[in-house]
Amino acid sequence: MRIVFAHLYPDYLNIYADRGNLAVLSGRARCRGIAMEVREVGLGDPLPDGADFFYIGGGQDREQALVAPDLAERGGVITSAVAGGAVVLAVCGGYQLLGRFYRDRSGQEQPGAGVLPLHTVAGDTRLIGDVLIECELEQGHRQTVVGFENHAGRTILDAAAEPLGRVVAGFGNDGESGFEGCRLDNAIGTYLHGPLLPRNPELADWLLARAVLHATGSLPHLEPLDDAIEGEAHAVSTARAYARGGRR
Ligand code: GLN
Repeated sequence: MRIVFAHLYPDYLNIYADRGNLAVLSGRARCRGIAMEVREVGLGDPLPDGADFFYIGGGQDREQALVAPDLAERGGVITSAVAGGAVVLAVCGGYQLLGRFYRDRSGQEQPGAGVLPLHTVAGDTRLIGDVLIECELEQGHRQTVVGFENHAGRTILDAAAEPLGRVVAGFGNDGESGFEGCRLDNAIGTYLHGPLLPRNPELADWLLARAVLHATGSLPHLEPLDDAIEGEAHAVSTARAYARGGRR
């Protein structure tokens, strides 16, 4: 089994160790005998044909402004790929740029790729801290996802859009709606850094399995791994999110 992984703008959008998400995915893939072919895609680089997984990290307004026009041009290709079942994980600044636009703190409107049904406008304050959300990646199976957020952007989902989850502690999309992130088929956008996946192995495997489904046409059964350390990291982040006195 082999999946093609497109890592967009690794030189510009990679804060809070977002690159660590790759290490987790390739490590968990290797443990199951899945080869992960990582293709770095910079400004003006071609996207790999038939990519199974698109990944884009977070960044400051300045770096986002440098990549936004290039990413916006790829909106149609990524939208079709998502409609075809490809996986997307977009974190914070990358998440914002997959919407229609991001109006940053300088008031500049950065074009978005229009893949996700949302837009973002920077506020005067930053939303910072540990976050705990509750979500249902699979219908009927509730789980928690934890991470760290630091953003000025307030993301507004379209009325019919599906959030990734409900905020249990923390700010999430805008500190108001009570929701965090957005999902569309196998595409997930989230404000959760940290990096996200080391402390959320269930989410990592969910993404991995869908990438294999896209590559092979069948959903694999991934052998469980010893996630004791990941479980501890999840518990520590959960306690921190509660301790910060966010929503309950
Ligand atoms: N620059 C964006 C904001 O401030 C995204 C920040 C990030 O990726 N952490 O909202």
